[in-house]
Amino acid sequence: MFDYLIVGAGFAGSVLAERLAADAGKRVLLVDRRPHIGGNAYDHYDDAGLLVHKYGPHIFHTNSREVFDYLGRFTAWRPYEHRVLASVDGQLLPIPINLDTVNRLYGLGLTALELEQFFAARAEPVESVRTSEDVIVSRIGRELYTKFFRGYTRKQWGLDPGELDASVTARVPIRLNRDDRYFSDTYQAMPSRGYTRLFDRMLAHPNIKVLLGADYRDVAHEVSFRQMIYTGPVDEFFDYRFGKLPYRSLRFDHQTFDRPTFQPAPVVNYPNEHPYTRITEFKYLTGQEHPKTSVVYEYPCDDGDPYYPVPRPENAELYRRYKALADATPGVHFAGRLATYRYYNMDQVVAQALTLYARLRE
Ligand code: FAD
Ligand code: UDP
Repeated sequence: MFDYLIVGAGFAGSVLAERLAADAGKRVLLVDRRPHIGGNAYDHYDDAGLLVHKYGPHIFHTNSREVFDYLGRFTAWRPYEHRVLASVDGQLLPIPINLDTVNRLYGLGLTALELEQFFAARAEPVESVRTSEDVIVSRIGRELYTKFFRGYTRKQWGLDPGELDASVTARVPIRLNRDDRYFSDTYQAMPSRGYTRLFDRMLAHPNIKVLLGADYRDVAHEVSFRQMIYTGPVDEFFDYRFGKLPYRSLRFDHQTFDRPTFQPAPVVNYPNEHPYTRITEFKYLTGQEHPKTSVVYEYPCDDGDPYYPVPRPENAELYRRYKALADATPGVHFAGRLATYRYYNMDQVVAQALTLYARLRE
């Protein structure tokens, strides 16, 4: 007899399992159809002995002290500020676009003030910023938009930026200074022994039973439980009653090279060439020292595991119909990136799970 059946052992399911078991004394059965815990944040040592992220690079950053401190109960942190270069016109240039990006691209020596004027002279005003094209073109103009954003976005989403909500490219700031960090958050760090160790410690509670390699549908009728928390795709839960919610997928090509480093930055983006969007070299993220190095190439695709909800108005509308169903389903709570159809980072998923827990405890 369990108090909760939790579907999905990613951040959403694992945080809720930990809180319900350790704070509220509930008995929890946590199931995942994958053969491991951690969801998309799962990491492991590959054949060469390098720590890699199976489902692409996961860099932790947050402005929430509460989230950072909560996760800090289960891991020590290694300070890490992420940096990315973009391959444009034969150069590797800092992205987010900053003062150095523009000066190096055009061979200029602008100051921050002059860069502001440079952008203003090229920006195309729009009445209201609706799409991912509007955000960039209205701020820095069409040329930089085309060089850095249009091709990458078309590859990543299979859609033109003009067909995607503004929130997608708005994730990447435009800077007037020389700050070349990818994120500006207060807390930027990696779990010092990796994500899977963090999850191991989070779930090491006698009230939590973990069942891996099992779909909840094959388990639910064999155990008894009072309530369910579901963190898988919301449309799948309701047997696609209103049709499929689009999720963008990726194919990951992991490679190991017999040399200490592969590229000059943790991530190199390819907005204009190659079918892949970016290459990540894990050593930079993990701080591991090793004579070899492992990287991952990301090839966006439609079919495969659902990784990215696709932010655009018609999808939000379809999700609203599923959400109404979810709200009307007694005894089941929906949380996480797939079940609430939100393009959330890890810290946002943790915050959402802690908020749901606070509600359940009442
Ligand atoms: P998930 O991690 O997807 O977990 C859901 C789990 O539910 C899965 O393990 C799945 O197997 C299981 N499940 C689904 N259906 C069933 C079923 N029927 N039965 C049993 N189990 C089921 N965030 C950041 O903060 N920083 C980053 O750098 C970053 N990089 C990313 C890179 C990529 C390529 C991707 C795809 C995401 C990235 N994210 C990043 C986002 C991050 O992965 C998510 O925010 C977070 O992992 C979501 O956690 P979750 O628990 O909601 O979902
Ligand atoms: N983007 C882009 N060029 C880049 C980096 C990002 O066009 O060099 C756009 C692209 O649409 C991408 C979005 O900005 O999907 C958000 O980028 P982010 O790095 O946050 O994506 P994630 O890490 O979530 O895949």
